[in-house]
Amino acid sequence: MKVSVDPSLCYGSAECAHRVPSVFAFVDEFGTVIPGREDSGDDPRVQEAAEKCPSQAIRITE
Ligand code: SF4
Repeated sequence: MKVSVDPSLCYGSAECAHRVPSVFAFVDEFGTVIPGREDSGDDPRVQEAAEKCPSQAIRITE
């Protein structure tokens, strides 16, 4: 499954990058998915990061 961050919702808490630094990065004060890691949506740590994102900006899709 694919993971992405909606930049219009992210308010830059950086929690995703701290939680799963192999998938998320904190760039220009916003969370983002590291290029090449977009297929990490099956990773339970990524799913937890999506659940805990305070702005619900992390999307996991088929
Ligand atoms: S946890 Fe959510 S609000 Fe915080 S940086 Fe990541 S995507 Fe943005």
